[in-house]
Amino acid sequence: MTQLWRYTNPVEITFGIGAIGELKQKIAGRNYCIVTYGDNPSFVDLARKIEHDAGPALVTIRDVEPNPSFIGLRVACASLSASPKEPEVIVALGGGSVIDTVKVLAATGSDFSRVQAYLEGRAGPETLSSTPIIAVPTTSGTGSEVTCWATVWDTEAKKKYSLARPNLYPECAILDPALTVGVPKSLTLSTGLDALSHALESIWNVNANPVSANHAVFAASEVLEVLPSLLDNLDDVEKRSRIARASMSAGLAFSNTKTALAHSLSYYLTLHHGTVHGIACSFSLPAVMRSVIGRDANCDAVLKRIFGTDLNRGADNLEAFITGLGVSTKATDYGVAQKDWVDAIEDALVGERGRNFIGTREAVLAAAA
Ligand code: NAD
Repeated sequence: MTQLWRYTNPVEITFGIGAIGELKQKIAGRNYCIVTYGDNPSFVDLARKIEHDAGPALVTIRDVEPNPSFIGLRVACASLSASPKEPEVIVALGGGSVIDTVKVLAATGSDFSRVQAYLEGRAGPETLSSTPIIAVPTTSGTGSEVTCWATVWDTEAKKKYSLARPNLYPECAILDPALTVGVPKSLTLSTGLDALSHALESIWNVNANPVSANHAVFAASEVLEVLPSLLDNLDDVEKRSRIARASMSAGLAFSNTKTALAHSLSYYLTLHHGTVHGIACSFSLPAVMRSVIGRDANCDAVLKRIFGTDLNRGADNLEAFITGLGVSTKATDYGVAQKDWVDAIEDALVGERGRNFIGTREAVLAAAA
């Protein structure tokens, strides 16, 4: 690539088994809150252990729901008002839903209306805060620990928003693959495919650059190599570590490019058919890849580093990989009528993420036929 490009990611990363032991040092005596799930006792224990090591938290918020929505975020923000003081740092202990919830709390404190006004009408950006975040991911897929945006759903209005602010990058990310060992099989599958989708979507992207490409090639190659055997050996810490590193690398790739068409398509499926994020954003990858082959020499060259020189065969292999994991690559299998799917593609192409895609409408519609 000879044109001008730049790459930035300010998140300090600590990675490895036992990395959670660094948390006390990262909190560094500041007043802190913990945000985690309420639906799993192991997170209650882990939060207690953190308080034992780092001193009592101002408050521990356990109201996080999967796919944070306006309704759930209002509750989480109200829970923050139980804190006797403004936190100086917020610890996100969980997967993408927890980390994204923390980004909203960091931006709006206990008053959700400020973020809501900003998301709905770009109102009052100067009212948004940026409390420092320490992200401790417990899933391997979203990469949210190294991105500066949060996905927020208005389930009542069937809308998806992205809260994207440069000051919402976590101050640091502590990735301890041991925390992911208890992730059940279906979530290991969907989050692994989420990471694959981030990697590939950063490649067929108008914002791609050589650094994002290197992260993406590593991430996609690792997911393709490791995910099937991890699904047969969920307790394998070495494989968990490789997938955690792949997910983080995919995050580093798309932190600079954002996602593209497969993600734009996913929002329709998640909002209208309740499809889990990682499946919704990955089932269309083979069709999206087929539509982009031959469109751009740089993109082809990067894809060849993952799939070999015959990219059409590579797309077939990608399809076999996804279906081999028990995930259908047909929209109709998720309850979508073919006609509605064509309309969804048209909408996705003009959506914010769809406009990052380097392919053409005609090729996408042909690949989806
Ligand atoms: P999640 O955070 O929604 O969690 C799903 C379930 O997994 C929860 O019930 C939780 O209790 C359970 N869980 C989490 N960690 C576990 C563990 N170690 N052991 C056992 N159970 C565990 O899942 P996710 O896939 O990490 O996050 C999805 C969310 O992330 C979506 O809302 C999506 O929109 C968002 N996302 C954000 C970004 C970003 O850059 N901000 C990128 C991709 C996805």
